[in-house]
Parts: sequence; structure tokens; C-alpha cells
Amino acid sequence: MDQFNHITSEARFDDQQFLHVVSLEQLKERELFDADAMVIEATDEKVIRAMLRQIRGMRFKNFYLKPIFVSDEGLSPELVQQTDGLLSFERIQACMQRSAAIGRRIREVRTINNRYSFKEAALVKTLQYLYTREVDLQPFRSREAKIGYVFPYLSSLIEDREVPILLDILKKAEEEGWLEGELIDRVNLCKDCYGGYLNFRESCPKCHSIDLVAVELIHHFRCAHIGPASDFERGDKLICPKCDKELRHIGIDYDKPSEIYHCNSCGHESQETTMKAKCVDCGTVNELQHLQTRAIKNYQVTAFGRDLAIGGFKKFDPQEVPLQQDQRILAYEVWHIFYQHELQRIQLRKLNSYLGALRLKEAPLAHLDQTTREKIMRESLLTISHYIRPVDSVTARDLNTFLLLLPEIKAKDIKVLHEILDYNIQKLLGDNLGIAGIIEYIEFFPVGAELNIEQL
Ligand SMILES: [Zn+2]
Ligand SMILES: [Zn+2]
Ligand SMILES: [Zn+2]
Repeated sequence: MDQFNHITSEARFDDQQFLHVVSLEQLKERELFDADAMVIEATDEKVIRAMLRQIRGMRFKNFYLKPIFVSDEGLSPELVQQTDGLLSFERIQACMQRSAAIGRRIREVRTINNRYSFKEAALVKTLQYLYTREVDLQPFRSREAKIGYVFPYLSSLIEDREVPILLDILKKAEEEGWLEGELIDRVNLCKDCYGGYLNFRESCPKCHSIDLVAVELIHHFRCAHIGPASDFERGDKLICPKCDKELRHIGIDYDKPSEIYHCNSCGHESQETTMKAKCVDCGTVNELQHLQTRAIKNYQVTAFGRDLAIGGFKKFDPQEVPLQQDQRILAYEVWHIFYQHELQRIQLRKLNSYLGALRLKEAPLAHLDQTTREKIMRESLLTISHYIRPVDSVTARDLNTFLLLLPEIKAKDIKVLHEILDYNIQKLLGDNLGIAGIIEYIEFFPVGAELNIEQL
């Protein structure tokens, strides 16, 4: 029963394929890649949040921008707003149209790649989300969120404890003109943890105790005595402790000029108290002037922001090798899907498929600037692509590491390829940069489940 648990059904509406999912654990990248939209069938909000975070944390647009619907009508509106809406029987047609429209726009935007910093990726992904959904970025109040507000998409990329990063991204996006903000609220946040749940209370200016009682003062006009009301109270009468006269009429005999605070801890009496804010999350007692005041805004994507959503930052992507639209040079995320696919294939049939790893030494390259290093990576990819077969593929996992997928290949061909790559990569980099012994290793491994490609 368990293996059927993660996918309850797969339905095709028109040309839209909806993948119904209960949990992500067993979900194959390939299934997710092929589906036009996902319907999360889970009912536990924690589980749904974790799934959103996982999918949107991915690094390929067909994953991180995937239309996501939920199916449980009982979910909190705040959570539903983090998705593309509720899928019900009556809304199937509308959801399909929505999914198709989002899909068309996803095709227009350029995927992020692993040259992006975390903040750049979060910003571009969010702009792409807004662009593909044709919406503004409108935060909504949420008791669940650390700062009391949730931002669609962006909040599912960034953990609550990293909320300063989220606020920085929005601030920067407005400064750079990608977003235009309209102030809707200000929040005061704990200086230590950026929590927005604060308990404000008065404390003694001398000993900081909160055990204060407010005491009314009475001013007797006739003798000018001022003292706490309790000093005047005798039974149900007010008698002046200084001159023993009875006080009858407020405004004629006496008035109440103010209150003072009496500290039960140290006995200090004062008209002033110190307001402090205790953080419900971490317990820090904040002086008011140390609270972090942050603006909460509705944001509209500007024309400039739309350009960024579509084109992304100009970062090198192995897919964009100039002058050579070689189908065998792939972005790592796409290559990885091909690799997963090959893994499944070899389980069905006994195939001699191999994975090749070529790594350059870091030390001789470390002093070069980023542009030069990207050029070296690009040239290396091109060189490798000259010597592989039409069915093979190659990717750059990082600036130094190249991975090859070689389906159904003979051992003697691997040996030849090894020698050719060794010679030509060395020649390429040796000629251009004058570096001898640039290759750290070239190795080939049979494709198999036990292979950990992240560690190559
Ligand atoms: Zn005190
Ligand atoms: Zn008096
Ligand atoms: Zn705190």
C-alpha cells in the first residue's frame, strides 16, 4: 500500500497533466518535470509548507515555478494564498486554464543557475513567480509568521529565522527599481531574533522590576500638601494627613494632578517608568529604541523588474554556450534529470552506462577573475563536447567539475575517451594559460544507485 501513497492519481485534462501528490519523499524528479502542475493532496499544513519549500527551493524553473494547487477546503486562507489556489471538482476547468497560462509564461523566463547567490536566486525566482502569475507582491497578515506578515512565494523560500534576509531582498529590490513599494504597515521586531510578537510593559527605571503599582496623587489646595491618595483615605472620607481638614469637593478642595508609580521591588517612587518590549519568541527584553522598525509594503513589479524576471542576471549558464547550440551541453539540473532517467533504465535492462568526472585543480585557477574562469569552463565544455558521441551529454557542476553521461558504452571506448580528454583539456588550458598539470583527475564509474555524484 505504501508505495502508492505518494501519488494518488495522474490525470490528463486537455493538454494539462496534473500530478496528484501526498508526500514528496518518493516523488521522482522525472515525474515532477513532466507534470504541468502539481496538486498537493496532503491535509497537514506543516507537510504542505515543507513541500512548497522543497519545490520552490529547487534550481530549475520547471520545478521552482511549477503551478501548485491544493485540494483540502479546510486549509487556512493564508496557506492557500501561497499556492495557485484550491482545486475542486467545479474548478477543474479554471485551474487547467490557469496552469496552461502559467506554463506559457514559464517558457518565457530564463532559469536561474548555480552562479546566483542565494539572495539573487530568491529575488529572481520571486520576480518570475509574480510575472508568471501576473500578480503583485502583496503581504498578508499571518499569526504563523515571525514578523506577522507572509509574502507570497518569497516567504516559502526563506526560513522564518532568516527573516532579515527577506527584508533585505525587498529593500534592495526597491532601491534598484525592480519593485515599487507602497507602505501598508510598520512592524517592530526584536533586536535579537527579529520576532514580531512583543509584550510591551512598564518597568522600574531604577531596578528594572515590572512589579509596579500606579498610585493616584492628591493635592490639597488649602495647605498645598501633595501625597498618595492612600495617605488621605480614612474610612470613606478623605482627610489631609498634614492639616487634618476634610477634603470634600474635587476641583474646589483638591485635585488629582497625576499618578506616580511605586516599585514593589525597590520602593522607588517616580512619575516616569521605562517601557520595554519582551520578545515572546526568544525572551529578550528590548529597550524600545533598540527595536528594529521595518516597513511592510505592497510591491508592484516595474518594467525593469519584468526584464529581470525574464532575462535573469547575466550569469554564465552552460546551456548558453555561444555560437554552438550543442544539445549535449546541459545545465546541471537538466543533466541530473537525464542521469536519474539512465539510472532507471539500467535497472530494467543490463546496460554498461558510465558516468565520467573530470576535475580541474583549483590552485592554479584560484587567482583568476570570475569572467576568465567562466571562459575556461565554457571552453572546457566545448572541448569535451567535440569528443563525445551524439547520445552522450556533459555538464559543469561547478567551475572545476565536469560530469559526463555515457549511455551504453564499451570499456575500450572509455579508455580512448579518457586519453583524448586528458590530452586535449591539458592542451587547451596549457596553451592558453601556461599551466602544466591542470587536471586533478578523470575517472569513469558504472552508473548505479550506489554512486554519489554530489561527492565526485
Ligand atoms: Zn524598582
Ligand atoms: Zn491639608
Ligand atoms: Zn526575540
